[in-house]
Amino acid sequence: MAKKEDLPKVKLTRDSLRKAARIFGFIGRHKWKFFLGMFFLVGTGAAALIFPKLMGDLMGLIGKSDSADALLGVANTVGIQLLILFAAQAVFSFFRVLLFVNVTENMLKSLRQAVYARLIRMPMSFFSQRQVAELNSRVSADISQIQETFTTSIAEFLRQSMIIIGGITIICFTSYRLALVMLSIIPVLAIITVFFGRRIRNISRNVQDKVAESNVIVGESLQGISNVKSFTNETYETARYNRVTSEIVRLAMKGGIARGAFFSFIIFCLFGAIVFIIWYVVKLKVDGVIAPEDMMSFLFYTVMVAGSIGGLPEQYAQIQRAVGATERVFDLLEEGTENIDLDHKPEVLKRFAGEVEFRDVSFSYPSRKDFTVLRSVSFKALPGQTIALVGPSGSGKSTIASLILRFYDPVSGQVIIDGKNSLDYPLTELRSQMAIVPQDVLLFGGSIRENIAYGRISASEAEIIEAAKKANAYDFIMSFPERFETKVGERGIQLSGGQRQRIAIARAVLKDPSILILDEATSSLDSESERLVQEALEKLMVGRTSFVIAHRLSTVRNADRIVVIDKGEVRETGTHEELIRIEDGIYRSLTRLQLELD
Ligand code: ADP
Repeated sequence: MAKKEDLPKVKLTRDSLRKAARIFGFIGRHKWKFFLGMFFLVGTGAAALIFPKLMGDLMGLIGKSDSADALLGVANTVGIQLLILFAAQAVFSFFRVLLFVNVTENMLKSLRQAVYARLIRMPMSFFSQRQVAELNSRVSADISQIQETFTTSIAEFLRQSMIIIGGITIICFTSYRLALVMLSIIPVLAIITVFFGRRIRNISRNVQDKVAESNVIVGESLQGISNVKSFTNETYETARYNRVTSEIVRLAMKGGIARGAFFSFIIFCLFGAIVFIIWYVVKLKVDGVIAPEDMMSFLFYTVMVAGSIGGLPEQYAQIQRAVGATERVFDLLEEGTENIDLDHKPEVLKRFAGEVEFRDVSFSYPSRKDFTVLRSVSFKALPGQTIALVGPSGSGKSTIASLILRFYDPVSGQVIIDGKNSLDYPLTELRSQMAIVPQDVLLFGGSIRENIAYGRISASEAEIIEAAKKANAYDFIMSFPERFETKVGERGIQLSGGQRQRIAIARAVLKDPSILILDEATSSLDSESERLVQEALEKLMVGRTSFVIAHRLSTVRNADRIVVIDKGEVRETGTHEELIRIEDGIYRSLTRLQLELD
């Protein structure tokens, strides 16, 4: 998963903030909780600002020479005030955290749901242009960045800002001379500290990168050791490795110098500054310029303000990352989706006859526009016919299947279904009439029952069993101890290729489509399994228009029409008998090849 620290930071401009502010739209009816949380946040900030004052009052008593009783009386009062203050702060903090977590989690729920609902409706071109796994991990990194920022960073940023501004204001009122001294020292030190920290982090990241690079060299060269040896490149590899390892030392030393300098800086400048400020405060006290309690509270304010200044950049960086993350999530939410009707009822649609015609279809994938995958492809399938698509790998057979399913639209030409351009059907209606039995069947984690019911979620128990029987899957399913409840997929049992195909066939039986797309498995199943799959497919194809991406001669021979594709063009069409007669024909030579292989 992408690490949160690696997420890019975005400059906080008015524009980027305005964009990111759209995220508040996802808070919805929980908005009041956010504002109440803010109120508690201000409460904790205010309590934090009162604390140094009371502490000063308490500790200032040490320097006083009043009577013991009077001193004790004041001490008791201030002590109780401090206790009340802490109690208030405890309550405020509790509710602040509670409310912020509540708002954030509810907001993230809406955001996650919206993103997923978008993603699943994106067109295929969206997915073919992106690494899906990478997209998934990026979205989850972005969302967890938003989560952290909303639960912690924003609150901390505001609280620390309050403490800095409030603390400095109070110090100014206590003694302008102290304020001047402090303001000229603390921010400088805080900024240098942050700068050092960042530099050290950068260097250590570079060192890690170099170490990783050196490991790659070792890994690659050992894996390809026969290459290294056959080319007698041992010296070359050694030199390469030595270069990188020496570079590690150089970088690590740079890091060492920075860290050493940082420690020296802390020891001398930071402690020096603290000593100087305390010395100055004591001097003012001795000169009678400030009261002892003011002296103490001043010291507390200084420590608090310094701490907040030191913490601010990190919170700021977190917010910057979250703004970037929000922008990316919203970009995703703004991508165009397919026009899918989420509430459609498959039962109410009229059944297609199943006539499919490609009329002069040319196509190139959106991700590779300059490469024409299909060129003027034309053919026609009458209702109920079986069309075999034959051709070398990469010739465009699967692309034709994708166009029938309208995963993509033709660049020119038309796909005509039952006499109407397929673009004119609602997408959901169109696809509800089609089923695909792919070469490599993906089963979802879940039971066999759920996997079959995927063909029609509303199917009854009896229908599922019937479908399994028609797909020749019933017997093997019943041979498992848990039968239809057997878990499959990653965490369940692994089914053989033939068994998975039969589950996919059962899905298609349930869906009862008028147009069927079959991608025959290239890797051969064992002959018994193949017979069962073949038989189930033949039953499934009855009464439907079927397109078979065919690898087996037997399938091709029985097809009503064979379409031979080469490099995206239809080269031959006809029945087996017709095509086999063409001298120098592609089909003829392909069949011959296969006969020889068999
Ligand atoms: P076949 O099914 O006959 O093996 P395909 O239809 O899968 O052939 O591929 C036809 C051509 O289209 C190939 O050159 C392939 O590289 C290209 N292609 C397939 N899918 C995509 C895609 N999603 N994006 C870009 N090019 C693709």
